[in-house]
Amino acid sequence: YRAKRERTGWAAFDPRVDEDASARLGMVNDLRAAIEEGELTVAYQPVVDLETATATGAEALVRWSPAHRGPQSPASFVPLAEQSGLIAGLTDFVLRSAAGQAAAWEGSGRRMPVAVNLSGAVLADPGYPAQLTRTLRELRVAPSLLKVEVTETTLVNESAVSALRRVNAMGIRVAVDDFGTGYSSLGRLKQLPVQTLKIDRSFVTGLPADRRDIAIVRSIVALADELGMNVIAEGVETEEVARLLWDLGVRRGQGYLFARPMPAVAFEAWHDRWLRGDRADWHAAVA
Ligand code: C2E
Ligand code: MG
Ligand code: MG
Ligand code: MG
Repeated sequence: YRAKRERTGWAAFDPRVDEDASARLGMVNDLRAAIEEGELTVAYQPVVDLETATATGAEALVRWSPAHRGPQSPASFVPLAEQSGLIAGLTDFVLRSAAGQAAAWEGSGRRMPVAVNLSGAVLADPGYPAQLTRTLRELRVAPSLLKVEVTETTLVNESAVSALRRVNAMGIRVAVDDFGTGYSSLGRLKQLPVQTLKIDRSFVTGLPADRRDIAIVRSIVALADELGMNVIAEGVETEEVARLLWDLGVRRGQGYLFARPMPAVAFEAWHDRWLRGDRADWHAAVA
């Protein structure tokens, strides 16, 4: 805080700063305990093929709901974990849960590869690919049942990219998450070990009205086609949007229209209903 105070010329003592710092420390300690004691959980959200209306996979999303605080958003506690050295443990928990779940699903006839979000800080560890290999062997999970998602920011880091290349070489497919919001150069994209672009939700929520969003989605689809990559649209909330995405060439989507992230058991119930044909009728519109 000292540097910040000097820059901004804050008064020597600001009680809010101390309060913030100690609240933060309290959160970090609770999060550390939650990871050690196995109190985190994982929610699974399906990715749906817009053409066949089948669930082609799921994304694993970490959940934390400390008793005295209530549910916490990963958008705030994941960055906290990254800043406080807890991200490796958090990721290991999510990865083991996701890989184990994908294998259990496969074993019961439900082929459902699961994607795990990997922070740049995790991939920056040169030992990570070897650790991942060991974990999958230990759990007896085929690498093809696991996928990883990284953000564009991660792809700017050379050592993270070389770790990712090794992960990809193991047979684990890689997606760029929140695509379009970062600063990755398009020229570089072609050299990266990436198979899928996930169009960020911020370009999907403005559909169908926002012509700029339409232009952005169209450009990402064209780019992916040229590079031989797949596209997944995030944040698909309405049939109207799903239909427009289809018209724009997007073939897979993820969002509340299909299902929210759910515990594994609820995911299975959702999937069974879905397979029985209890699907949103947007499909009739695109088929
Ligand atoms: P993300 O990887 O882009 O995940 C998608 C987020 O969008 C999830 O939020 C999901 O619940 C939300 N979402 C899905 N469909 C819709 C929709 O139709 N409408 C709206 N409004 N939202 C939708 P969530 O679970 O809160 O996670 C937020 C972010 O936290 C994730 O964004 C990811 O960056 C990070 N995160 C979550 N779990 C993990 C994890 O295990 N490891 C790491 N490193 N990051 C994680
Ligand atoms: Mg993701
Ligand atoms: Mg995303
Ligand atoms: Mg996103």
